[in-house]
Amino acid sequence: MQINGKTKLYGLIGWPVEHTFSPAMHNAAFEALGIDAVYVPLAVEEKNFEAALKGLAALGFSGVNVTIPYKEKIISYLSDVQDNFVMPVGAVNTVNISNGNLIGYNTDSLGFQFSLLDNVKIEGIEGKKVFMFGSGGAAKAVAAGMEGLGVTVYITDVAKEKAENLVSHINKYSKKSKAEYCAGLENKETREKLKEADLVINATGIGLKKDDPSLVKSEWVRKEQIAYDLIYNPPLTNFLRAYKEKGAKVFNGEGMLLYQAVGAFKLFTDRQAPVEVMRQALRKQIETLNLTAKS
Ligand code: NAP
Repeated sequence: MQINGKTKLYGLIGWPVEHTFSPAMHNAAFEALGIDAVYVPLAVEEKNFEAALKGLAALGFSGVNVTIPYKEKIISYLSDVQDNFVMPVGAVNTVNISNGNLIGYNTDSLGFQFSLLDNVKIEGIEGKKVFMFGSGGAAKAVAAGMEGLGVTVYITDVAKEKAENLVSHINKYSKKSKAEYCAGLENKETREKLKEADLVINATGIGLKKDDPSLVKSEWVRKEQIAYDLIYNPPLTNFLRAYKEKGAKVFNGEGMLLYQAVGAFKLFTDRQAPVEVMRQALRKQIETLNLTAKS
């Protein structure tokens, strides 16, 4: 990569960002397409957030991705938010900067939708039942990604009100899918819904730490089910392990991460992203991380 006076600047704004895989994916894509641009991590503490946003335009950045903890907070600083989905997500993960204007988008929803259709490939998804743990920002993006699929989504969250709000949100905006609130797993009806589901999604942070318990017990799991964990590091959470041990198909959040970056790249450059190049760059990062963790 040759940086010169005309090199366009992109980055990821969040706190912390030291473990991000986004620079590897975007820089590999820029290089593959011969685009004169560079993508860097931008670690911004909460107290500096507003100053950093103003600085982005002043420094001539062309665009940024946004991650935890700023996906919702950034909205009030944007000139406009463009939502591809009928169901508003209420979170932004991609911002284009032009003439001092910051335009926000969300590609997490598309990321989930593409990964579902490309990797998970649930045959005839219409009419299927989905059980989802969590109703935070990521769960909202997942729900928006499923709005046109004609599925029924059962949602549980330790924060009851949040889950109920997401359920009403889906039932209000979703074109084809519908949702139902479920109490915790101490409730027999909830366990029945979990067991009946075709697809079970973990959209909580439970599993980010290797010794986090599984959200499900082995007796609630069937081998015909598909389990999808939004977490990609570690690659096999105890939630996914519970399904894998029963012989069910399991997927981690790698596909969603890849496709949200693919969506962001298109918004940044107006060019089709080299998906395979980005996939390989992501794989390499994850493998390096796993090797480092083992050594
Ligand atoms: P979040 O806003 O904290 O939402 C998670 C929700 O799950 C919270 O409401 C939390 O409640 C709830 N929860 C915690 N334990 C639970 C349990 N045992 N049962 C049911 N609900 C429970 O987090 P987020 O930003 O949505 O992110 C969620 C996960 O998705 C993270 O692991 C993140 O890394 C991952 N993610 C992946 C991608 C990708 O591209 N693959 C993209 C975005 C996010 P409390 O707040 O009360 O704990």
